[in-house]
Amino acid sequence: MQIVMIGSGYVGLVSGACFADFGHDVVCVDKDAQKIAKLKDGGIPIYEPGLDQLVSGNVAAGRLSFSTDLAEPVAKADVVFIGVGTPTRRGDGHADLSYVYAAAKEIAEALDGFTVIVTKSTVPVGTGDEVERIIRETNPSADFAVASNPEFLREGAAIEDFKRPDRIVVGIEDEKARAPMEAVYRPLYLNKSPILFTRRRTSELIKYAANAFLAMKITFINEIADLCEKVGADVQDVSRGIGLDNRIGAKFLHAGPGYGGSCFPKDTLALAKTAQDYDSPVRLIETTVAINDNRKRAMARKVIAAMDGDVRGKRIGLLGLTFKPNTDDMREAPSIAIVQALTDAGAKVVAYDPEGMNAARELLPEIDYVQSAYEVADGADALAIVTEWDAFRALDLPRLKTLMKAPVLVDLRNVYSPAEMTEAGFHYSSIGRPDAD
Ligand code: NAD
Repeated sequence: MQIVMIGSGYVGLVSGACFADFGHDVVCVDKDAQKIAKLKDGGIPIYEPGLDQLVSGNVAAGRLSFSTDLAEPVAKADVVFIGVGTPTRRGDGHADLSYVYAAAKEIAEALDGFTVIVTKSTVPVGTGDEVERIIRETNPSADFAVASNPEFLREGAAIEDFKRPDRIVVGIEDEKARAPMEAVYRPLYLNKSPILFTRRRTSELIKYAANAFLAMKITFINEIADLCEKVGADVQDVSRGIGLDNRIGAKFLHAGPGYGGSCFPKDTLALAKTAQDYDSPVRLIETTVAINDNRKRAMARKVIAAMDGDVRGKRIGLLGLTFKPNTDDMREAPSIAIVQALTDAGAKVVAYDPEGMNAARELLPEIDYVQSAYEVADGADALAIVTEWDAFRALDLPRLKTLMKAPVLVDLRNVYSPAEMTEAGFHYSSIGRPDAD
């Protein structure tokens, strides 16, 4: 198959490289000339484990190339994926679809022969209808079908997720789109990943419903963690105790500083807005959004409380800044609100993140950035673990303690055990667990 991927970000680049790895011919297109120049030069614009080898291998095999111009590859394509960003629209919380619609218009002008245009971006219900209308209006003689194929990969494990998905969802209105979409994914469902064909609007809603459910699950355990702290219970055991029930499942039950990233915050908000527009509010999700928003600053208050309520002039070290490990993505990371709240309270923040510091510097210029966990600890009045990078899982505790001005450690990811930290001489607090006696 000849495939074009419009948008070469976290989703477009990973999907494009994986499709090439399946044996398809893929051109990844992006408006960002710097990104394309870097890719053509053999560089990778994002951090995603394994992506450099996957890209270089498929470029060398002649199956993967990059371009800023979509006209030529689109004319030859069987299937064109739209994988551009759909961020929150400023002001009202709806998804900003301007990039999707701009891409649709450009694609329309370049179509030649029957082509399936597929929205891989996360888009609200009805976007496929509008993409179809735009293409028909721009190029009335075009022979095309519009499909929806939401992406479920997770940053940090994106290649594995793409190659071994729990399911593939494809929404179509025109049966002519079915065979090309089956051909695109044939290597996967031969490998037993179920492919679920639905109507297009259903497929669009599946993506939002999935993300909203996961966000709700995280928020649920976060609230239970708060209750654990009040009643002297241990949220790790509660999680295990409920997660072993197959009806509930163990995943997404890790209490922490609140969900972040480029998907859950914007997708929960967009779903709530869509539902309000259709006069069918999703109150569970509205509440999830509100709880999670409050939680991020509450984490800063937790750090302040661990320092007896006064952080003015104090040096607070943060271990990790990205919204989760194994990515450089800083979008909506809890660290942003935490840093702002600590700075508002008069603290000086110093931080280290293995991959996120370039992106963080633009968002959080007020931080002192250093090159290791031990440099963060040097002279710190307190440390907080914000992201559970592997590099923070086996820290040399005596060394850390010697470097710090005061041995206060707030573990927002429950990486360490209260007993171990207390024995090592730390004033240790974590999420939803009783302090060690
Ligand atoms: P991203 O910001 O990393 O990448 C989007 C890219 O599209 C950018 O490089 C941008 O320059 C490019 N672009 C914008 N308009 C263009 C145009 N007209 N022509 C060519 N290129 C254009 O975004 P992302 O994280 O890859 O997300 C893309 C979509 O996938 C979003 O809708 C997101 O919700 C969804 N999604 C993301 C993830 C994830 O983990 N990041 C997972 C599943 C779904």
